[in-house]
Amino acid sequence: MRKVLLLKFGELFLKGRNRREFIKLLKTNILKKLREFEFVLEETQGRLVLKDYQETQEDILVEKLQTVFGLIGVARAVEIDAEKTVIEDYVKTLDFSAVKTFKVEVKRADKTFEMTSMEFEKHLGGVVLEENPSLRVDLYNPEQLLMVEIRVNKKCYVYTNLISCAGGLPLGSAGKGLLLLSGGIDSPVAGYMVAKRGLRFEAVHFHSYPYTSVQAKEKVIELAKEISVYCDEIKLHIVSFTEIQEQIHKNCDADYMITIMRRIMMRIAERLCLQNDLGAIITGESLGQVASQTMHSMNVTNSVVSLPVFRPLIAFDKEQIMDIAKKIQTYETSILPYEDCCTVFLPKNPVIKPTIKRAEYNEKFLDVDALVESAIANEEILIINNF
Ligand code: ATP
Ligand code: MG
Repeated sequence: MRKVLLLKFGELFLKGRNRREFIKLLKTNILKKLREFEFVLEETQGRLVLKDYQETQEDILVEKLQTVFGLIGVARAVEIDAEKTVIEDYVKTLDFSAVKTFKVEVKRADKTFEMTSMEFEKHLGGVVLEENPSLRVDLYNPEQLLMVEIRVNKKCYVYTNLISCAGGLPLGSAGKGLLLLSGGIDSPVAGYMVAKRGLRFEAVHFHSYPYTSVQAKEKVIELAKEISVYCDEIKLHIVSFTEIQEQIHKNCDADYMITIMRRIMMRIAERLCLQNDLGAIITGESLGQVASQTMHSMNVTNSVVSLPVFRPLIAFDKEQIMDIAKKIQTYETSILPYEDCCTVFLPKNPVIKPTIKRAEYNEKFLDVDALVESAIANEEILIINNF
């Protein structure tokens, strides 16, 4: 008998070649995440088993595994031989003193095992009741579930609790994009959401030093560190927006300032994508949240780029976004008071229904290409690694 961690991944959508690639990437990501630890990772049909680790490290291993996309659950299990008497003997030793009701669930991947799943469930239920006469079976709402998995490798895994993991698809399975990362609540959550669907990303942050403070920039670096727990290594592009904002402030209509700023952010983002082989731009926008996030505004900002723009929070309420930010532990950093560049020179009444025509007219008073060029030429790059 030995203690192991049994790792479960979502299977429904896994077919053919996809399945192999999914599992291969999942394993690579797990090995990378746990690179400081010693252990063995084995694959048995439909499960991964992590074994031969130091028992004192089990808690930290579980905690790290909970942040691996593609895993739906991890169980602290024991591995024993898949023989009826061995399983019975082990089940007899289990302590049920804290509960009144239980249920046994058997999963039998090895169809050569001598009983069917249902027969064995009943049988093991009887064994438990014999040892614990005051217990009752409750099939619908048991206080304690006893899971018994009989795998094709002739091993049996027994556990009582499945700890939920991040779910989603393995990081990297959907390619790589560029996240527009501000210091706010929304964009780190947007990054988390696309990473959960398998999209790796680099990030870009625009700052307007000295109008924005050094702390504002450090806050964004801290946020990148915090999401890197889930999203692996992040290449963070830090781009100065000062000159661009000054030019817009000087030359463009006040109500169009934000629209023009956002169009230039998008242009820079697209250029960075092309330079770094990234296939999509990701933002934390949510429909109607502010003037620059109306359908009309998003249309006018989208129209300057041809790469897809992913807005995973488009239909989320602020409350929902805040809940996720708290769960992934970016919230406390996000609410630190340092200002974002978008709030510098903020007009009183930004346009709610901008048009492409008027945006283009305003841009005639700027040398947009030169501004984009110079911003990118002066970018600072940091590699954030906290996973
Ligand atoms: P957030 O909470 O993410 O800051 P927000 O509600 O403050 O969003 P806006 O300021 O309109 O909304 O920004 C919308 C999106 O534009 C952000 O989610 C982010 O993706 C991007 N963005 C805004 N400011 C910056 C910035 N300084 N650097 C990089 N991206 C930014
Ligand atoms: Mg913001």
